[in-house]
Amino acid sequence: MTEIVAIDGPSGAGKGTVARAVAKALGWQYIDTGAMYRVVAWKAQKIGRSLDHEDVVSEVATTVSFKIDDHRVIIDGLDVTTAIRTPEIDVAAATVARMPRVREALVARQRAYAAAGPLVMEGRDIGTVVFPDAAVKIYLDASPEARAQRRANDPAHGLSQAESIGVVADALKERDHLDRTREASPLMTASDAAVVDTTGVPIEVVVGRVLELVREKLAG
Ligand code: C5P
Repeated sequence: MTEIVAIDGPSGAGKGTVARAVAKALGWQYIDTGAMYRVVAWKAQKIGRSLDHEDVVSEVATTVSFKIDDHRVIIDGLDVTTAIRTPEIDVAAATVARMPRVREALVARQRAYAAAGPLVMEGRDIGTVVFPDAAVKIYLDASPEARAQRRANDPAHGLSQAESIGVVADALKERDHLDRTREASPLMTASDAAVVDTTGVPIEVVVGRVLELVREKLAG
């Protein structure tokens, strides 16, 4: 069976940085599933589709052609790495992620990556829905303040001059609420996940802890 490390948790807990570093250390694929929900939201808006229609948006989720690697996201040959990380797409991605048929389409595409070899996948439902049999499941969490601070410092998102840390914190809270209360695959901790709190912990220490868990599981 393909070896899989599933990393879930709320926005700003450090999933991206940790998952990327763990994948690099193991020499495995790194897959950012949040980017896929962002791609669908961006593409649906780009072609002038309203995000109210699940049939239209799920068609986009099935057909959109994209490439996501460690650092860049490309849709139909266009580099959208920064375009999919605006506050508008934050909200639009959380909106399309509530749609069961969109999730179905993206989960199928996420599972297909396993055919190409072992992987580290990060998101909200990886250990609960996408790969419930993953060898290692990690739930990364942090205090709301630490998450807002991390998000504000993240160059991928950036903090525009008009924004204060309070605005970032409010937006995160709103998005978490959407993610935790949706009916389709809400954000929650898998019963067999190791919960790692990253509040005040240097990211390299978190990466070391996750690698330790992976080595323990793979050895056992
Ligand atoms: O991780 P990121 O913030 O890029 O994810 C964007 C949005 O995509 C999240 O707020 C969430 O609504 C959705 N998402 C999801 N399931 C995943 C990954 C992301 O619902 N596995």
